Amino acid sequence: MKVTGVEVFPVHIPMKIPFATSLGALPPKAKRVIVILRTDEGLAGVGEAAPDPSYHDETMEGIVDTLREYMVPVIVGEDPSDIERIHEKVRRVIVGNTFALSALDFALYDVIGRRTGLPVCRLLGGLFREKVPVVWVLSLATRLDDMAGEAEAMAGKGFKTLKIKVGVDPRLDVERVKAVREAVGDRAEIRVDANQGWTVDKAISTIRRMERYELQLVEQPVAGWDLKGMARVAKAVDTPVMADESVFTPETALKVVEMEAADIINIKVMKPGGLHNSKKVAAIAEAAGIPCLVGSMLETGVGTAAGVHFAAAHHVVSYPCETIGPLYFGDDVVEEPVKTEGGYVYVPQKPGLGVQLSLEKLRRLSKP
Ligand code: MG
Repeated sequence: MKVTGVEVFPVHIPMKIPFATSLGALPPKAKRVIVILRTDEGLAGVGEAAPDPSYHDETMEGIVDTLREYMVPVIVGEDPSDIERIHEKVRRVIVGNTFALSALDFALYDVIGRRTGLPVCRLLGGLFREKVPVVWVLSLATRLDDMAGEAEAMAGKGFKTLKIKVGVDPRLDVERVKAVREAVGDRAEIRVDANQGWTVDKAISTIRRMERYELQLVEQPVAGWDLKGMARVAKAVDTPVMADESVFTPETALKVVEMEAADIINIKVMKPGGLHNSKKVAAIAEAAGIPCLVGSMLETGVGTAAGVHFAAAHHVVSYPCETIGPLYFGDDVVEEPVKTEGGYVYVPQKPGLGVQLSLEKLRRLSKP
């Protein structure tokens, strides 16, 4: 089987639930890129890039250009199952641009799965778990007064972990945690994500004040590049510290290990360039005794399925995951996203990613 071409579609997905972090608010329509990879056997694979320019250095417009002008030309004619070779070929033409690369990587896995009749998790190591516990995220778009109500409603729907976005104002940050703990009692665990919003000293004092409300973990308290600062925070507080913006690639994962900068790693499968490279991050974490979880860039049903397959196949992914992008969107490019129910997302068992792209929806959402 050979790749004959890749079509690239910029899409605009309307948000159903507004979303904001300490980095800023997401626009009312999320910009995503969908790819369809075609082969000489008539099989097609689908992939996605879900950029957030406030979080990393790629945009929807740049990804479209990177794919069409640089990445797609070097993979045409390749056998999709030669994943390592394809990644290396692309890297020699254009470094970085890992979100663009992820779209291709997901599509390669999807098409190999369809060809072999295997769900993607079985290409990644097999089905370690059939369902993945997932987290509800209370973003900064939820005001303090509404925190208790949303937390209670989501705990009632079966979410056993709630993540609270913080990192703007330490006093308000603590109030938000307090409101949620008082609302849910011991029915849910609470994690917080500062998205790099604090200084080292502010992080230590704020997390200490939050610890009376019992935190499962605290995510990216300080700047992603500041591994010394991450290590200082991790040493000073009792709560495990998770690296998100500090770990994109296997190399940065290794740095975090060497500097003892985190206790947990958030693997978003787009950060290192897709599923193939995420396996390398997971291997480094596992060897270092660092548990992981699979986070989310708020992907559509396509990227979400990729993350779910990865979580399903890896023992080291042992914390509840955040692969719930479709719940925040008012529309999707797939017929039916992965099933999410009672605080779990169920691993699709059809060949490939296990989701069906809707060409009608793709056409509609391609219009700005
Ligand atoms: Mg994060």
